[in-house]
Amino acid sequence: MEKLIDVNKAISSELGRCGDYNPHLLACPEELVQQKVMKRLRNIYSEVIGRQKLSLGYPLNQNFDYSALAPFIDVHLNNLGDPYEANSTLLNTRELEQEVLEYFCKLWHALPRSPLTQDSFWGYVLSMGATEGNMYALWSAREYFSSRARARGICQNTMREPVLYYSQEAHYSLEKCANVLDITAFQEAGNKYFPGQCPVTPDGQWPNGVPVDQHGAVDVGALSALVDFFVSRGHPPIIVLNVGTTFLGGFDDAVRVWQQVSGILERHGCDHSDCWIHIDGALGAAYLPYLELASEQRLTSERGSLFDFRLPFVNSIVMSTHKWFGAPFASGVYMSKEKYRMLPATLPEYVDTPDTTLGGTRNGLAALILWYAINTVTPTMQAAIAARCEKLAAYAYQQMQSIKAIHPSFCVERGPQSLVVIFSRPREEIFNLFQLSGRGKLAHIVIMPHVTRAAIDSLITELKNKQALV
Ligand SMILES: *Cc1c(COP(=O)(O)O)cnc(C)c1O
Repeated sequence: MEKLIDVNKAISSELGRCGDYNPHLLACPEELVQQKVMKRLRNIYSEVIGRQKLSLGYPLNQNFDYSALAPFIDVHLNNLGDPYEANSTLLNTRELEQEVLEYFCKLWHALPRSPLTQDSFWGYVLSMGATEGNMYALWSAREYFSSRARARGICQNTMREPVLYYSQEAHYSLEKCANVLDITAFQEAGNKYFPGQCPVTPDGQWPNGVPVDQHGAVDVGALSALVDFFVSRGHPPIIVLNVGTTFLGGFDDAVRVWQQVSGILERHGCDHSDCWIHIDGALGAAYLPYLELASEQRLTSERGSLFDFRLPFVNSIVMSTHKWFGAPFASGVYMSKEKYRMLPATLPEYVDTPDTTLGGTRNGLAALILWYAINTVTPTMQAAIAARCEKLAAYAYQQMQSIKAIHPSFCVERGPQSLVVIFSRPREEIFNLFQLSGRGKLAHIVIMPHVTRAAIDSLITELKNKQALV
């Protein structure tokens, strides 16, 4: 802060010398400016810090300490361009970014980049969260299909445009990404070309998203019927599967999906590679691998279903750093394979690096933060944290059952391994106090690493009050 004031002082004295200074700047004594700024910051800081630990409604880990990295905030770190082919002279953290990507290569069982093969992983650290990763995945899928269409006719039918599938519980970013990229979702294609002919609804109306089960996992039967409908008409599928849906915390079963989809592709004379499967693992792609490790270490008997590059049909995975790991700002990891790396439209001479990422300038602090997180919290510690969160979610679910005795209409739900507990929406004061998030008559909590048993107990005490639900 003092440094900033110093710079301002220097600038205003320069401006003063030039004669075109801002009279308001100079009319206000510097001490006063400093006091005002500091007062404002102190107020905001004490408000957010006070509310931080009671934050129960969002999948955002609040339990982190990056203060050791504070000196880096005074440097502009810019990982512009491809993490593996950048030559720019900008100050950057690309070396750490590459180490971060190697860590996720192991965590998600991808193939390493040395030796470099077509199946080696490729990816980058995002400057936005999973939204950017979803956008990049769908963009890559679109380019993948259009280059294949140029090379040959895809199915026996002449190649038509791909059709996108995501479930009713998928994140709202997917609809937005499809819109920006002009990719057609199945319901859009259905409404436009086959009105009233949906194979999975009794009335033939196209639902907005593939139906899900009560825990928010995609209905594999419905998804297969929809994919079959369009593949038989020559449209290859782009399928987004969720590893942890945002509201219900559901996990899609990628293995069962592929058993069905691969059969459909074969039946219609298509290749297995006439399909793109993207895993939206904003929270779950970090949580589930550690839960798996915890089950190997016998810390829990819970274990989620497979979603990562052990499944050869998975094309891309995305994860948001600020969710499981916790970070002071949005960021994430996108990972795919070398063979799907997009060819940049241009090689901008100005920056001397292939423009293979969505953004230009990329946040170098994002790689630094994640590098620090994975190097200070070991996988063994992460496994213990994952097992603890899972147990705490089971505890919250079980404790909430007892509320039914007081409020007969109270409902509570939780899917297997889920960190999310869904329950009847309480009145506004409770909702706000615990920073819940809600949908219609429901609210939910997400058991992230910062959530304590005491916080859950105090929520339950509140919910037991007579007036809690009205
Ligand atoms: C949070 C979330 C996103 C979006 O992530 P951002 O980091 O907010 O961009 C995407 N998908 C799922 C399933 C999410 O939960």
